[in-house]
Amino acid sequence: MKTPTQTNAIDFDSAKLQRLGFGQPSLIARRPISLAQLRQQLNLQLQTSLEPERILGLFFREVQRLVPLDALQYSHETSDLRLEYGQRGHHSVSYSLSHQGEHLGELVFRRNQRFSEEEQGNLESLLASLLYPMRNALLYRAATRSALRDPLTETGNRIAMDQTLGREIEMAKRHLHPLSLLMLDIDHFKRINDSHGHATGDKVLKAVAASIKSQLRNVDMVFRFGGEEFLILLSNTGRDAAAMVGERLRQAAQAQDYWADTTRIELTVSLGCSTLLTGESAESLLRRADNALYVAKREGRNRLAMAG
Ligand code: GH3
Ligand code: MG
Ligand code: MG
Repeated sequence: MKTPTQTNAIDFDSAKLQRLGFGQPSLIARRPISLAQLRQQLNLQLQTSLEPERILGLFFREVQRLVPLDALQYSHETSDLRLEYGQRGHHSVSYSLSHQGEHLGELVFRRNQRFSEEEQGNLESLLASLLYPMRNALLYRAATRSALRDPLTETGNRIAMDQTLGREIEMAKRHLHPLSLLMLDIDHFKRINDSHGHATGDKVLKAVAASIKSQLRNVDMVFRFGGEEFLILLSNTGRDAAAMVGERLRQAAQAQDYWADTTRIELTVSLGCSTLLTGESAESLLRRADNALYVAKREGRNRLAMAG
């Protein structure tokens, strides 16, 4: 049986009108709370956070005082955000949230029973309380993300790396998990710039970053460490598994096609790998990967060296 799905667009301006009381008359439900009360409460509650996860979690919980739900799904492609609460149901009703032409995501309410007209009216009315908080949360998310990213290669920057490395070392210590680090540097990158120009160099840098990310499950663990140097954090990964990942990255970078107009550019990378020792600091872990990278360069490049 086909799952009934309805799609509706919620426009911010009409939502605002509804909130001010110019929309459909309030439908007072017989449940523990009235629509008007719930709307008022949501308006206050949802303003208290800038995290999409928390805002939608609160919304999912509170809306159920008026409209029982099995699940809520949210997605916003531009910010690569996908959230899901509860268990899936057979029936669904979807809304596309927007504000002055700006897309604020898709929301799907699900449950096993059909949604009545009145319930849909309530949901639409309650969605009005979600628009401002979600818009602010998405703006905040975009701002914080861009502060932590390298715009050229779309990998994490040094600030992100420091934060993540510190956190991952803590986690590894607490859960007694292994943690490994790969430092990857493009071989003779200066020659590429010299022969084909800086713009081509930039394109190649982007392509190498894309090649690294395509080989990893968690792209949030790739950082641009310096000009043509990347750092890859491998959580819950010991020395042998890290060596395999490093070797895979080396081969992938070499296999990828890089072009300067019609000339194919040959490119290789070298890698150094270190695995966290008991009680080791971030600085020491980084230093050992860097030393291993130096060994890989010295021994002829296009290879992986393991820290001692
Ligand atoms: P090695 O194999 O020893 O690593 O040699 P290399 O030429 O890659 O290393 P070197 O450190 O001598 O040169 C790195 C070059 O990378 C120098 C610098 O101009 C270039 N570079 C750094 N950042 C960027 C960037 O953002 N874009 C471009 N196009 N080039 C960059
Ligand atoms: Mg280099
Ligand atoms: Mg370098």
